[in-house]
Amino acid sequence: MTALDTADIRRQFPALGRKIYGHELIYFDNTATTQTPAAVIDAIRDGYLDSKANVHRGVHTLSQEATARQEATRALVARYIGAADSEEVIFTRGTTESINLVASSYGQLMNEGDEIVLTVMEHHSDIVPWQLLAERRGLKIRVVPMDDRGVLDLDAYRRLLNDRTRLVAVTHVSNVLGTVNPVAEMIADAHRAGAVVLVDGAQAIAHLRVDVRALDADFYAFSSHKMYGPCGIGVLYGRRELLEKMPPYQGGGEMIKTVSFDGTVFADLPFRFEAGTPDFVGIAALAKAVEWLEATGVERIAAHEEKLLEYVTERMAEIEGMRIFGTAPGKGSIISFLIGNAHSYDTGLLLDKLGIAVRTGHHCAQPLMERLGVSGTVRASMAAYNTFEEADAFIAALRRIAPMLA
Ligand code: PMP
Repeated sequence: MTALDTADIRRQFPALGRKIYGHELIYFDNTATTQTPAAVIDAIRDGYLDSKANVHRGVHTLSQEATARQEATRALVARYIGAADSEEVIFTRGTTESINLVASSYGQLMNEGDEIVLTVMEHHSDIVPWQLLAERRGLKIRVVPMDDRGVLDLDAYRRLLNDRTRLVAVTHVSNVLGTVNPVAEMIADAHRAGAVVLVDGAQAIAHLRVDVRALDADFYAFSSHKMYGPCGIGVLYGRRELLEKMPPYQGGGEMIKTVSFDGTVFADLPFRFEAGTPDFVGIAALAKAVEWLEATGVERIAAHEEKLLEYVTERMAEIEGMRIFGTAPGKGSIISFLIGNAHSYDTGLLLDKLGIAVRTGHHCAQPLMERLGVSGTVRASMAAYNTFEEADAFIAALRRIAPMLA
């Protein structure tokens, strides 16, 4: 496997040329969203410039072309994640909507006293939809704990599974700790207990090879904007036999076969879950992001990010007062930290003045913050275009600000 040519990659990302307070931008907020390559931006521009037409409605050429682009993207995404067929790929607005779709629709198949298992490291978007559902239907939510490294306690998980467990929802990669959870193993356990599993793949999809069939996942959710694609597009993969028995999520155009005031016959998969006009321009541009990931190679990206993570972590650990949260073996390129007792915002603001973009706060994971005993952290997260020079500049910046903060 050849190493990534980061100089070549960086040339493809126009936003990386920005200067912040006179410094070259160092973009280390990739967990929140990744930057976008020119090929994706061009596809968005072209989609509006000379080929905008609504999908699935028109017989005219532009509409036929738009439909073909959207369905080709669906097939490409299906292949990229190893789905058995493209009808198992539903376009949504993002991971959040994908999870809400499952909670609203599959949730209707759950009854009072049924149980849902979550983990302590879930993002709010993989907690709140289940809480809303639990309230509506009288369900119980149970939570898998973790150890101090950020490794889930699988024995505790197995003890939580029982004949009332209907669904397990687990993040593939923690957006705070970087932990890569053993989801294949957890799915096998859940299946033995008769439960289905939704994997929140928001932080995995651009950083490791995802194969939904190898994982045996029932649902897999992710967002385009975290995989070098456009904003406002998400994917829900669902196993066909589950999707087929699920009631519709939203009603409207596109999701029906026939409508009369006596009743409505719903469309087949995947359209049954895609009410209304989708962001067809964005969906077509997502294809360019997937092609970019395929051409670059997600395994090569992962190897590059792993080296960067190791390099940065080793040097951060030498800084006086540095506290790193999340030390699970094999973790992804996300580093949460605090300098002494300094507030994460202060650290983030000082880093920004040096041109370094990091995230601060609770990262939409307040239950995890509570487990860690902090109100927030600073989070640096790396992607394909980040370099060792940037890592050095980041370390130098931390060394410079740490004495002011500790
Ligand atoms: N899950 C995880 C693990 C995330 O990191 C995020 C985004 N921070 C989400 C879900 C929600 O994704 P989106 O806002 O794109 O719907």
